[in-house]
Parts: sequence; C-alpha cells; structure tokens
Amino acid sequence: MHSTYRTIEADVCVVGGGLLGLAHAHAARGRGLSVVVLERDSRPLGGSIRHGGHLFFSALPGEASQLAAQARASWSELLARAGAFSDDCGTVIVARSDDELAVMAAAVRDRPGSARMLSPAQVAKLVPIPTRGLAGALHGLGDLRVDPRTVAAAIARLLARDPAVRIEWRTPAQIVEPGLVLAGELRLRARAVVVCPGAETREIPVALGGEGTLRRQRVHMLRVAPPGHRRYRPALATSLTLLEQPGFAGLPGAEALRARIELEHEQLIEHGVAPVITQLPGGELIVGPSSVPETVPSPFGNERSGQRLLAAAQALLGGPCDVRERWLAAGLSAAAERGSGGSRASSDNFHVSAPLPGVRVVRAVGPLALALCHVQAAATIAELLAPAPDGSSADGFALRDQRRVPLGVRAHPQAFRALRARPAPPA
Ligand SMILES: Cc1cc2nc3c(=O)[nH]c(=O)nc-3n(C[C@H](O)[C@H](O)[C@H](O)COP(=O)(O)OP(=O)(O)OC[C@H]3O[C@@H](n4cnc5c(N)ncnc54)[C@H](O)[C@@H]3O)c2cc1C
Repeated sequence: MHSTYRTIEADVCVVGGGLLGLAHAHAARGRGLSVVVLERDSRPLGGSIRHGGHLFFSALPGEASQLAAQARASWSELLARAGAFSDDCGTVIVARSDDELAVMAAAVRDRPGSARMLSPAQVAKLVPIPTRGLAGALHGLGDLRVDPRTVAAAIARLLARDPAVRIEWRTPAQIVEPGLVLAGELRLRARAVVVCPGAETREIPVALGGEGTLRRQRVHMLRVAPPGHRRYRPALATSLTLLEQPGFAGLPGAEALRARIELEHEQLIEHGVAPVITQLPGGELIVGPSSVPETVPSPFGNERSGQRLLAAAQALLGGPCDVRERWLAAGLSAAAERGSGGSRASSDNFHVSAPLPGVRVVRAVGPLALALCHVQAAATIAELLAPAPDGSSADGFALRDQRRVPLGVRAHPQAFRALRARPAPPA
C-alpha cells in the first residue's frame, strides 16, 4: 500500500518554534525570504516559556554597547508589532558591602549612559525593598521585562500573519539533509535550514559537531505572590548576578568579590543561586534561577535548590512569598569552543555549528541568549547569504537576499510552492 506525503518549498526552513527559532524566521523575512517553521509541539513549551522574562542588555560590557542597542531596538520593534507586553524597567542590583559597590562603580565607568549608581535612599524611591544593610545599588538602564508565558505565542501569531511565513505546529523534524527536511508526511525543500532545538531535546534531527563542549544544567524557577501585593517595576537582583554574568565578571574587583562570596556563601554557590526577580503583568513575581550542573537529564529537582532560591528572594524583598508554581528547565553552557557569527558577546551566548552544507544548528548557551537572539539570528542568516570567496553562495547554496518589498507586505506571491503529492516509496 502506498501512503502519500506532501512536499513544500521555501527559502528557509527553521526547525524549532521557540524564541530563537522564531527570531531566525523573523530575520529571514527581513531579507525577503520565505520561511517554514517546524515545531514539534502545539505551542512553544521549552526554555522560551520557562525563562525569567528579563532582557538584561545592561549586563553587556561597554565594548558591546552597539550590540546592546541593536538587540534592544530589535526586541522593542518586534514586541510593539506583536502587541506583546513589555516594560523598559531597568534592573536594580543591590550591594551590601564595599567590594560589591566597587565592582558596580567599575561597571558604571565601563558603560556610561547605560548604568548608574544609586544610594540606599534612591533605591527606596524606585523599589519597595528594605534598605537596612544596603550599601547602594547598580541601576542598569533600558533593560526590558517581557511576559515569558505569552511572548513567544505573540511573536508566532505575528509571524503567522505574514503570507510568506508558515508555522507547522505538532510537526517534529526527523531528518535534516542539505536542502531537505523530513517531518512525518511532510517533505520540506529549503535552500537553507536553521535548527534551533533548545536545550530540552536530546534527539536533534542532524548530527552535530562540538556537542561534547556543551555542559548541561538543571535550573529551578519559581512563581510567587509578592509580599504585601507590592509592585516592583525594575527587575531586582543581588551581587550574585555580578558573578553569573560574563559582562560583570571581568571587571576590576570582580575576582576578589567572587573569592569572598564563595567563602562566605558556599551553599548559595553550590546550588547556583543567583536570584533575579521580575514582576508579571498580573503582579506575581518570577524568581530564578538556581542551577546545578547535570550530566544526564533528570526529571527530579533538588528541593534544597528551590528553598535556597526562595530564601534569597525573600531576603531581598524583605518578606515571605507564597510559592504558586515551581518548574525545572534545562540550560546549556559552552565549555571552550565558541560559536560563530556576531561579536564576542554574541558568541559567548550561542553555540553555532554547520554540520551540513546550508544547515546551521544554533543553541543558546549563555545567560543573555534571549536578549541577543535577534542579533544572532540576523548574523546566522547573513552568514548563510554571504557569497563564498569564489562568488558562489555560502556552501554552494543558492540563497539570495530577496529584499524588495517592505515587511508585512506580501513579498512572495507564491512563497510556498506546494509540489504535487507523491506516493512514498514502498517501505
Ligand atoms: C530557567 C531559564 C531562565 C532563563 N531566563 C532568561 C532570562 O531571564 N533572560 C534571558 O535573556 N535568557 C534567559 N534564559 C535563556 C532563554 O530562555 C533561552 O536561551 C531561550 O528561551 C532559548 O530559546 P530556544 O528557542 O533556543 O529554545 P526553546 O524555547 O527550548 O525552543 C526549542 C524548540 O524546538 C522544538 N524542537 C526541538 N526538536 C525539534 C524537532 N526535531 N522538530 C521540531 N521542533 C523541535 C522544541 O519543541 C522547542 O519548542 C533562561 C533560560 C532558562 C532555562
């Protein structure tokens, strides 16, 4: 008996409908290319709905200030067009000692215009947290807060309204070959394929290079009711965040600060507790992360990690928080090898491999991956479009910049050519 399968054509196929995959679809459309996104689930369920909703541009070092501005502008424009919630709330990182203040002052010198110091009295005016024992704070300016539960769906809806974008939900890609993706009954012919499978998946439909250089973490997150129904506009963090973010870790005084904190707060370091608190539009707070390395993905969360995270958040907020939800997520980090495309700050946050001609696998491996996903997506697509030194297109693939008509206008009257349904070869 013969079964039929559908074949469709597009310029670019994106595997994975999380925020990174959607960013690549958006970047491809920015070049006038038609896109098909294949997503395994009926909606994004991976890292793209489990994150803290904190787009922490001010954590980038001063040398990457242009990148930060570009990342922020891309996000702002897309969020506005998607009608998604966002707030340019900034970030307040509190200091309780002079060595913390010294690193923060170095951060302000490093990125003038995107960060400033606050006195305890200024902190009290901005956020309702207790100021007893506070030495001051770093105020990162222009950071955005988004709603992690709804932002990916809003962007997917926006993209799906474009006639040159097609999103196939519940469609796991099984095999990726140069120019061809097989997903159940669907055969997708695409000149370029970008695979953004996230950290949760172990079966990637293409052999990867450099997988051995990625380390996994199990991350705990919480949704809590704020003490006393208070409102906190800026995202809140402690100096543990200074140690977590590469953009602060290289500053003068950061090494000494790390050594002191590791000595005094061994338990927090062991459980990877570095709370960042962001408020959801409805008032509840997202608190996270605490993260511990793991070699084999585990479904079990260590309750101590969650408790330490909660205790750190309550100490910062100055009151008890009622836990409404806990969840686990997988995170990746890169050991040695760096990704390609974009600047150093961008490559610190992404692992990019080219396992086959015209195929790129892009994975988030840094704490600013979400903030920088549109910059990385633009870099991936530009690299796939770039002509090789001999004048042919990258990898010999005929991907050409099709940008002729503004976005939102129907660029390709026949963006997807549905080829005739052909019977599958007998098994
Ligand atoms: C707990 C946590 C908190 C975070 N907080 C922040 C933060 O506050 N700020 C920040 O900048 N970054 C943050 N990050 C990082 C950020 O959330 C991630 O980098 C980002 O969401 C990754 O998006 P993604 O699209 O790569 O992955 P995902 O969202 O996991 O998407 C991958 C998608 O690919 C699909 N898929 C996989 N295999 C296939 C297949 N074969 N066929 C079809 N589809 C497939 C999956 O179903 C999934 O939907 C956080 C990460 C974690 C884990």
